[in-house]
Amino acid sequence: MTREVYLDNAATMKKYSDAIESESKFYREINANPLRGLYKKSVQATTGVNEAREAVLKLVHADKSYTVIFSRGTTEAINLVANGLILGDDGFGVVSRDDKVVVDIVSHHSNILPWKQRYSNVILSKNLEEDIKGAKVVSLTGVSNVTGENFLKRISEVRRALPEAILGVDGAQMVGHVDFDITSLGVDFVAFSGHKFGAPMGIGGLIIKKELAEKLRPLNFGGEMVDSVSLDGEPTYADIPERLEAGTLPAGAIFGLKAAVKSVKEFGLAEDLVKEAAEQMEKISGVKILAANGLILTFQIEGVHPHDVAQILADENVMVRAGWLCAEPYLRYKGWGPVVRASFSEFNDKADVEALVEVVSKVREKMGL
Ligand code: PLP
Repeated sequence: MTREVYLDNAATMKKYSDAIESESKFYREINANPLRGLYKKSVQATTGVNEAREAVLKLVHADKSYTVIFSRGTTEAINLVANGLILGDDGFGVVSRDDKVVVDIVSHHSNILPWKQRYSNVILSKNLEEDIKGAKVVSLTGVSNVTGENFLKRISEVRRALPEAILGVDGAQMVGHVDFDITSLGVDFVAFSGHKFGAPMGIGGLIIKKELAEKLRPLNFGGEMVDSVSLDGEPTYADIPERLEAGTLPAGAIFGLKAAVKSVKEFGLAEDLVKEAAEQMEKISGVKILAANGLILTFQIEGVHPHDVAQILADENVMVRAGWLCAEPYLRYKGWGPVVRASFSEFNDKADVEALVEVVSKVREKMGL
């Protein structure tokens, strides 16, 4: 098959042309550090960065109590918050290393390891209702990268049950794909990755309550995040968000992010394709559909290792992901082991579904089964 069928959008979504164009235009026509210079191009860079922040806040219906801290993506954003929350004698932080931290079992490794590495009492919860009791920090998955399930309802239940705790969301598969209102959800932070909703790689962030951001320890120290550095003694830090964004921001990617946010017109455009593919694949002997929700279709083929499935599909130009999907605890807990995941975006169409179904239907035969 010569047609390219890209079905790994949950790993990184196909990019909006406006996002690519905006990034490239930034380097062609502006190419100045935001925040630094007083000349026109630098001011344009700064303005664009601020507009991107506003665009992200608007996308998630954030009120004035929230801000955006830019990071490389979800992983860095969760590391920033996990590290920044720890009380230290540097005046930053709000919780101690041995306070109870709860993450959900469905979590991606990026919502497990940043906490496990820094806290001694991290519960990977299979029963949130019980486990959240006494938690100081709870960090939950917005939309699963394994099953495509949306956990917004569960997140608001946890918020109600635990009004005092710091509650955050791994929004990697949610921001830009699901219309949610962070203000009424009432969570303290949502981490996101631009590249998962059509923006360039290398930009994402933390949408966070300003009050909490004020208390976070920066992950990086250096230029841009200080107002004054003396020969001896403590530096005077800049205000948030800059304090938490040391170094030169990837302004081109941020311009691309702003364009991507504008390109998100309707949510869930490809969800019907997932349902259709699942319905057709269910009829193929030996195919076991494990999950078909939102933009994600996860399956196995009897007697064939998921990597072999993915290779056979790849040989026919159908690009999917196979393995543990960076969510090994969850796949073990479910007793599934490695899986194959086809993940869709609004750039896919019915012909892509047909191509997937056709190649999947030939896998067992190709393996001599
Ligand atoms: N969380 C979830 C649910 C994800 O699906 C991913 C990426 O696959 C991440 C976190 C990590 O995102 P990034 O690699 O952009 O930091």
